[in-house]
Amino acid sequence: MLNADLHCHSNFSDGTLPPADLAARAKAHGVDIWAMTDHDEVSGIAEARVAATALDLPFVAGVEISITWAAQTVHIVGLQIDEKNQMLVQGLAATRGGREQRAREISAQLEAAGIPGAFEGALKFVGNPDLISRTHFARYIIELGLSKDLHDVFADYLGEGKPGFVPHRWATLQNAVEWIRGAGGVAVIAHPGRYKFSDLAFDALFQEFKDLGGAGIEVTTGSHTVDQYDYYAKVAKTYGFLASRGSDFHGPGESRIDLGMLPPLPHGVTPVWHNW
Ligand code: AMP
Ligand code: MN
Ligand code: MN
Ligand code: MN
Repeated sequence: MLNADLHCHSNFSDGTLPPADLAARAKAHGVDIWAMTDHDEVSGIAEARVAATALDLPFVAGVEISITWAAQTVHIVGLQIDEKNQMLVQGLAATRGGREQRAREISAQLEAAGIPGAFEGALKFVGNPDLISRTHFARYIIELGLSKDLHDVFADYLGEGKPGFVPHRWATLQNAVEWIRGAGGVAVIAHPGRYKFSDLAFDALFQEFKDLGGAGIEVTTGSHTVDQYDYYAKVAKTYGFLASRGSDFHGPGESRIDLGMLPPLPHGVTPVWHNW
């Protein structure tokens, strides 16, 4: 089976490496098909494509769109998109639009919790002023020595219900699927195992996604446990979804799974790249 890695982040969103470094790392790790999927942002894709092409590494243009569904944040990955499609570009710009205000509120709440200067502190880690994310705050709080790693900083400061958490309304599921499909892409639910839905709510999410034209779910991802690889392989078969595989790599030392280092998809699923 091909070593496909169809989910990772550059410093155009909350990854630490520039697109060209990701391409080189994917190539060095034996990746056969590579997608870069920055959060709500496609402006790094041109650079990624040039670098991948120079390395003879098959490249897939991607994006990871933040949506709000049933009061939770869910991520929808788009693969094989035309990143110049105007509806997609405008939709992503609107989705990014609320991030600066949200970051100021996160900073104010952290200040009230005894951590001053977090907005400026997070900005030091931001590669793209259009995309300030909780990950950048996390790096600042770790730098201050208040948490030892990303897991702890989300558990103590930035996760839902914690002092620095600011609820945010992102795009809708329908928006994200329409933007991706309108740009010629394939829509995939990212890391379903990370959401805290009941079985009933998951069923509603999967049905609604399918009805909207959604095609796949991530099965083997750096955000899943080994048990979840098999569980979501079954889910894919039950709903007739294609199965995707991606490390969700954000940077050396920050991600559990490096580019190209995931196990293969479980048997019996249809890979999302089967007809590419
Ligand atoms: P945002 O889009 O600003 O809400 O930031 C979301 C990002 O924070 C995700 O894409 C992850 O990179 C990171 N993140 C969220 N929760 C965790 C966690 N528990 N551990 C590590 N990183 C996390
Ligand atoms: Mn991220
Ligand atoms: Mn995600
Ligand atoms: Mn991701």
